[in-house]
Amino acid sequence: MHINKGVLIAIVLALTAACTDEAPPRGTAITDVTVIDAINGVREHQTVVFDGDEIIVVASAESVLPPALHHIDGSGKFLIPGLWDMHVHLTYDDAFTESMPAMFLAYGITSVRDTGGLLYKLQPVVEKMRVPGVVAPRVYYSGPLLDGNFVVYDGKSRPEIGTQNATVEMATENVAALKAAGVDFIKIYEMVSQDVFAALVSAAQAHGLPIAAHIPLSMIASQAGPNVDSMEHLRNIELDCASNAPALFEERLSRLNADDVESGYALRSSLHSLQRIPAIMQYDEERCNRTIASLTGTIQVPTLRLLTFPLRSAYDHPDWNEALAQVPELKRDEWEVATAQWQENSEPRDTTYAEWGLSLVGRMHEQGVPIGAGTDTPIAHALPGFSLHTELERLVEVGLTPFEALESATVRPAEFFSLQDEMGTIDVGKRADLVLLNANPLDNISNTREIAVVVSKGRLVAR
Ligand SMILES: [Zn+2]
Repeated sequence: MHINKGVLIAIVLALTAACTDEAPPRGTAITDVTVIDAINGVREHQTVVFDGDEIIVVASAESVLPPALHHIDGSGKFLIPGLWDMHVHLTYDDAFTESMPAMFLAYGITSVRDTGGLLYKLQPVVEKMRVPGVVAPRVYYSGPLLDGNFVVYDGKSRPEIGTQNATVEMATENVAALKAAGVDFIKIYEMVSQDVFAALVSAAQAHGLPIAAHIPLSMIASQAGPNVDSMEHLRNIELDCASNAPALFEERLSRLNADDVESGYALRSSLHSLQRIPAIMQYDEERCNRTIASLTGTIQVPTLRLLTFPLRSAYDHPDWNEALAQVPELKRDEWEVATAQWQENSEPRDTTYAEWGLSLVGRMHEQGVPIGAGTDTPIAHALPGFSLHTELERLVEVGLTPFEALESATVRPAEFFSLQDEMGTIDVGKRADLVLLNANPLDNISNTREIAVVVSKGRLVAR
């Protein structure tokens, strides 16, 4: 073998470096920072070093540490794990798809769970986000909403993001096909029958896929909820909290089995209008406590920002103008008009369901139900990234501590995907997704908006 002189010198230099006591500098150190995560609590005066997509040091700022290549002064600042939005739709609105990844990162959202989109549209988006070196949040996706014989999001009155599971066989085949296509979990929707629900659950379990679900209208929350890993939007829980829940259930079943149904969307809407508010009016605390007690093993992703809109409109948020300025050109007019119309409209709004949502999440939290943070962005004018911080504020409003709100956007989503060993806290060996804040989020959860630096997969994100 012939080695030229230049290469030889380089090899000798490398060997010399390896033989000295001093390790070569590596990684980026965030120095003298207060580290906050939901498992380790608060650790003051720490130095955190990450190299590539891995945290390699978390130690007291006074300790002697191997030299780092780059330094970020963390003194007076607060370091939290990268945040998750557990409920997003990357392909719901084409005007947003392209810009969503950067918007998430700008607001410290370093991971997202896409809870519904057709594979042919969603997979190219996911593939692009997963190209090594691309600056984008980590993304986990379910593919289509797995609906029943009737499909709510069938592409007619609503965008097409649902698919039909009319029979147990279809359900089993569809889950197998989704697994083969590479989905990370499945999403069960509202119109499935009891048999199809059971088939979807057992197929997902057989394939090792976590399950997110709306409570199907053919079931009650305490029956369906314990079989899934997360429940979205508190959907249809009120129907199991009413003193006349059994009668409501019978009424729903007979409507679901009627043969004069026009569409999945119309059927669902008619059942919600028929039963939702009456059920809340018939609220039975004892019954509801039994329902809640059945759900302590299921993460609730209440999307409170969405549910409380009539009561706490996003348009009235002090930072809403900042949000509006970031809406893609194509959509900005529409959002501005909606904002103006809302603010000009002085008619009283029905806030029953919004108040119900706030009180239910508070009680669930008190009774030990795990809560996850998600927004449904970009649906209902939820700005990607921005809206997650509003969701954290709502969670604190209903009784979570700021610490627990952080947990809902870090540890809970990691648990959903059994990724606790890789994500959710700031520990050696974990992935390098970090948010450096200028103010303490434990003093006020709104301080999660005071972002100095975002680190995604070990790279500093330009904001
Ligand atoms: Zn959704």
